[in-house]
Amino acid sequence: MLSDRLLAELNEQIMHEFFSAQYYIAMAGYCADQDLNGFENFFLAQEQEERFHAMKIYNFINERSARVDIKGFEDPKNDFESIEEVFEEALGHEKFVTSRFYKMMDIAIEEKEHITISFLKWFLDEQVEEEDMMSSILAKVRRFGEHGAGIMMLDKELAQRVFTPPAADAQA
Ligand code: MG
Repeated sequence: MLSDRLLAELNEQIMHEFFSAQYYIAMAGYCADQDLNGFENFFLAQEQEERFHAMKIYNFINERSARVDIKGFEDPKNDFESIEEVFEEALGHEKFVTSRFYKMMDIAIEEKEHITISFLKWFLDEQVEEEDMMSSILAKVRRFGEHGAGIMMLDKELAQRVFTPPAADAQA
């Protein structure tokens, strides 16, 4: 059974995942305004992934016969100076999300909540990919600069991204 403390953290995390989705839509909007539609597409795919994360936690809480409690949040940042700033923010945000999963994992370990430990492990592995993806695009933006052929090539590459939910979770 989920303890009240762990349940509260999981419910709070649903909010952080939905906030991530809102935040990435705000970033997509900035990229669209810069006529970088590949970058826009990248963030819109990321937004879908974040909602998938939120609903994965929602489903887990329900499966454990606990009660989902949906929280609201404040406006995300909408104004950015540059694409570099967008990716600095995205990377910083993913590092924050990783710290949230560390916190939940610490509690789950302390409480010997093995089912939740196993559930959270999926998210920790996911966070390695999220941070790596944001930092690798940030490095490319810094290398190519904001304007010119390099950024246009990157825009083309990011236009290809499609979000596909992992097969095991597709029917959940
Ligand atoms: Mg997420």
